[in-house]
Amino acid sequence: MQYENSLTFAQQLDQQDPLKSYREKFHFPQHNGKDVIYLCGNSLGLQPKSVKNALLAELEQWKTYGVEGHFKGEMPWMYYHKFLTQQSANLVGAKPEEVVVMNTLTTNLHLMMVSFYRPTKDRFKIIMEGGAFPSDQYALETQVRFHGFDPESAIVEVHPREGETTLRTEDILEVIKTHSDQTALVMFGGVNYFTGQWYDLKAIAEAGHAAGANVGFDLAHAAGNVVLKLHDWNIDFAVWCSYKYLNSGPGGPSGAFVHERHGNNPELPRFAGWWGHDEDSRFLMKKGFIPMKGAAGWQLSNAQIFSFAAHKVSLDIFDEVGMEALRIKSELLTGFMEFLINEANQSGYSFNIITPKNAKDRGCQLSIITDESGKELFNFLTENGVIADWREDNLYGKNAGVIRVASVPLYNSFEDVFNFVEMLKKDI
Ligand SMILES: *Cc1c(COP(=O)(O)O)cnc(C)c1O
Repeated sequence: MQYENSLTFAQQLDQQDPLKSYREKFHFPQHNGKDVIYLCGNSLGLQPKSVKNALLAELEQWKTYGVEGHFKGEMPWMYYHKFLTQQSANLVGAKPEEVVVMNTLTTNLHLMMVSFYRPTKDRFKIIMEGGAFPSDQYALETQVRFHGFDPESAIVEVHPREGETTLRTEDILEVIKTHSDQTALVMFGGVNYFTGQWYDLKAIAEAGHAAGANVGFDLAHAAGNVVLKLHDWNIDFAVWCSYKYLNSGPGGPSGAFVHERHGNNPELPRFAGWWGHDEDSRFLMKKGFIPMKGAAGWQLSNAQIFSFAAHKVSLDIFDEVGMEALRIKSELLTGFMEFLINEANQSGYSFNIITPKNAKDRGCQLSIITDESGKELFNFLTENGVIADWREDNLYGKNAGVIRVASVPLYNSFEDVFNFVEMLKKDI
């Protein structure tokens, strides 16, 4: 696409955008009586207008039926997780039996590691990306300790080369190869939360399997952001949250994927609860755990109905649009932002985008390193109705940091992007 640096051009792109009506389906926080420029969907997605009625319907169900709400009404609570299965499968490229919505993200990461990180004296290492989201780092570190190993030797991080900010696939594959005899698990983010880099999940899975290891991904920043094909890529397990790109509200539930070749293996060790037990005999309340087939067999508890209800209506939107269509707009939108920032740099600014330049190596987020005036600039943006994300990072100079912005194709417009970059250029 040949972009132009003008408001008229941005408005033209909005006019031609086949997804433009979706913006209307979301509530925008207000600033001076106007919608904010919301670029923080990578942290907490906006509220779909349909959520309110979905929650009210569940309150009504509870009020009307009490405990019988488990079996009565349009969406009986007893089966609630099933109402989210097909759409979750579509979202991540899986078969319905391979996914389940349950718990929260870090909890599911632990549950998956119980099954898929089974270290032995000879094979105990985990290979992960350096600079992973802290919760993942803590989960992996404590899993390693739980099995009696030392994180120092058991966790191998892949870091960017000197002078680079993102990982090269060839380097990831090389590290996996180097440690192949000792690696039990390869565990990466799908899209890195800090740099916005989208890793080559398929290549990592192939390399991990060639090394004899299991391969899992944390898709917190990938689900609802990029097109995923978890089944075809032969990934062993994956987890994601629903409150970032998936707009399901603070603390929203997590999704988990278990490849079918593991899902139907009752011998696979796991931490169980009654909701993962064979549903035909669940209420016999008998001894002896018999797992449900597929990912559902990893459930612990009955569904958190209110947060599942919000998630359900959000999934309805994703299912209606489809990830392929979203991704087409996403690449255009992020490409436009990158173009405008490059234009600004041509005229004397120095914004350094650390996110990969190639669309196939990123989602919709751009991470922009600022100079020492970064914090001041970020505050200026906030005071003027831009909601973005700031991380101080003294690696790049005193008071310097990273502004992370996500132009989300479901509700952000090309005009949002244009106005944001205009504001970046304000002299403060
Ligand atoms: C957002 C995020 C989390 C948060 O975990 P919760 O358990 O949902 O609080 C964990 N890991 C990654 C990679 C994230 O981006």
